[in-house]
Amino acid sequence: MNYLSVIGYVMMAMLSFKGYSQSKTPQEKIRILKNGYIIQLTSDNASVKKGSLVIEGDKIKEILYEEVSEIADADIIDITGKYVLPGLVDAHVHLATVPKEERNENNQYMEQQLDKMLFAGITTVRDMAGNAIILGDYKRAVSLGQVKGPDIYHAAMFAGPGYFEMTRRFPSGKRSPKDTPWEQTITDTTTISLAIARAKGAGVSGIKIYSDLSKELVQKITEEAKLQGLQAWAHAAIFPASPMDIAQSKVHSMSHAFDIVYGLDKKGPITREDKVTPIDTKKLDLLLQVMKENNIILDATNYIAENNKLYIGTVITKRAKEFGVKVAVGTDWPYLMEDEIPFYKELRLLVEKSGFTMAEALWSATQIGTESIGLTDRGSIKEGKRADFLITNENPLEGLSQLKDVHLVVKAGVVYKK
Ligand SMILES: [Zn+2]
Repeated sequence: MNYLSVIGYVMMAMLSFKGYSQSKTPQEKIRILKNGYIIQLTSDNASVKKGSLVIEGDKIKEILYEEVSEIADADIIDITGKYVLPGLVDAHVHLATVPKEERNENNQYMEQQLDKMLFAGITTVRDMAGNAIILGDYKRAVSLGQVKGPDIYHAAMFAGPGYFEMTRRFPSGKRSPKDTPWEQTITDTTTISLAIARAKGAGVSGIKIYSDLSKELVQKITEEAKLQGLQAWAHAAIFPASPMDIAQSKVHSMSHAFDIVYGLDKKGPITREDKVTPIDTKKLDLLLQVMKENNIILDATNYIAENNKLYIGTVITKRAKEFGVKVAVGTDWPYLMEDEIPFYKELRLLVEKSGFTMAEALWSATQIGTESIGLTDRGSIKEGKRADFLITNENPLEGLSQLKDVHLVVKAGVVYKK
């Protein structure tokens, strides 16, 4: 790629505006992010190279590693001296769990959290169950650019009757009083294929396999979800299904590292009595081995664990990382409750307590987060991938304060600046 072809792009961009500018959305423009430091991450390393990103529509068309000099009158954004990371992915949020009293309060709350996420560089989230009508509505609003926020991929929650008998008894919880396509009671007599089809009809991307389900049911749900093109996202301990039962069922991800203390490598039914402390590393390794073989992502959620004094989560995550189990960065914590973005706190724990370098934590925060949703169109800076970037003023590989120093966020080719 040389200077001339860069001009070519600019010409194309200018031509494409001519006559069409009225009907073209901002997403269809060609943009060049000029002269930044592009960070390429791998599972255990990172490289930084000066370059420019050519964006066509919502995708990366080309990466140019030669200097791009003076080009007038084009949609060019100079990012000289800035650092470009792929957009971040929060693998565990609950955007629409507990409704507020008033509808406008709901909308305000939703939009504030989405806004806070996006301007921190989070361009995609995995919502691990909530009202699918609201989530679907916001998923659409966000994709149309009506609301500023990350792309939303959400789950339907499947659990046994024991769980719902408990949770639906509390009026303060404001849960739906009965089953909906996104919150279904599953028993041995449930037609699983129909249950999954209902969930799919509600627009979800995955089934959250949550609680009070046997090993056999976890297996059935997982197989049927895959058959119908959905993801199987399980809790790490489901009671009676144990972490080992779940790992052997080949789910796509297991949430909450600290839950692994229940039953650990035990096959067959577990209860809360089966808590294994201290952790037997040999037993933990047996489980991690199965998770690794089955390419199951650990959605660690250690910040919420530490808030509940469950310090074992970071220890289990450290071992998982040493073992080569993929770890996603999920917060499971409200974004408006504290000033600091919970995603940063999750990253901090990976680095300070679970043995991750900043580069490894960012790989988890981008590529592994993407994989946790079953997506392949984003998560790294490559030609053909979505143009989702977090652009910072300083080098984020050096630490969290640099990561927090946001210059711009680009999502699907659209530039967001506070
Ligand atoms: Zn959750």
